[in-house]
Amino acid sequence: MSRPMLSIVIPVYNEEAGLATLFARLYPALDALSTSLGESYEIIFVNDGSRDRSAAILREQYQQRPDVTRVILFAANAGQHMAIMAGFEHCQGEIIVTLDADLQNPPEEIGKLIAKMREGHDYVGSIRRKRQDSLFRTWASKAMNRLREKITRIKITDQGNMLRAYSRSVVDAINSCKEVSTFIPALAYTFARNPAEVIVEHEERAAGESNYTLYSLIRLNFDLMTGFSLVPLQWFSMLGILVSFGSAALFVLLIIRRLILGPEAEGLFTLFALAFFLIGLALFGIGLLGEYIGRIYQQVRHRPRYLVEAILEKKE
Ligand code: UDP
Ligand code: MG
Repeated sequence: MSRPMLSIVIPVYNEEAGLATLFARLYPALDALSTSLGESYEIIFVNDGSRDRSAAILREQYQQRPDVTRVILFAANAGQHMAIMAGFEHCQGEIIVTLDADLQNPPEEIGKLIAKMREGHDYVGSIRRKRQDSLFRTWASKAMNRLREKITRIKITDQGNMLRAYSRSVVDAINSCKEVSTFIPALAYTFARNPAEVIVEHEERAAGESNYTLYSLIRLNFDLMTGFSLVPLQWFSMLGILVSFGSAALFVLLIIRRLILGPEAEGLFTLFALAFFLIGLALFGIGLLGEYIGRIYQQVRHRPRYLVEAILEKKE
């Protein structure tokens, strides 16, 4: 395989039901693209420790198209972003496109991203034209998006969407990062000098189940805020200062009241409400600190980020 122009990186986790359809649409789309542009491509599938037949299906596909297919098989599940990371470390293209295996991103849209990259951008994200997800999910992710953007200064309109193109220089910068838990599009955004976004079509998951729940959506956003910014900590210390001033004022007020009106024993439940509110704040602060400490802990353990069982590729 000579150095291809275009690398497609696809993480695969328990996708046995949808892979055949993916192949049937992905390869013709890329073949058409490469004839019209005269550019070569490679597809890198990263099997993220699937517990179904995905690995076997990828092996078969590699036999079918060894000229343009490479397969990385993980020994265990390491998460979608580590799978993409492994793909990045092994890809050779000048333009690298990531895609979900579940066909929620139509492979026919890859050309649109490439065209935008050709205009001189080093990172092209995509926005799904019509989200097929439920109304609540769309709303929830919009609201969290806004908060995250405020905190991290990372502008990604449609963060749940992995159909994105990166230049070689951005991918090289990502490869030099040793983070154990990260979110690739956000990391790329911090390295990109000239990012852009295009609108693409969006489809219902072709088959199988989504691996993400509402809980993991919240988790992801929390990870983004603590992983890419110290603002939550700073906000929390500002809040601490405000609360201290408030309680100092209350203290002075109570002293004066005591001197003028004498001792009091009422207002017991107001006191409870106040105390519980402050305890709640303190617990939130401890939790927030824990998030950062957890990140530091993961990082200092220096465990391998993923374990590769096998790599299928044609030797040059
Ligand atoms: N994925 C993965 N490892 C995981 C979870 C997911 O490689 O631990 C892959 C999955 O096969 C798919 C992509 O990441 O190609 C996105 O996953 P999914 O469709 O479940 O997420 P959603 O589209 O619901 O955000
Ligand atoms: Mg999906």
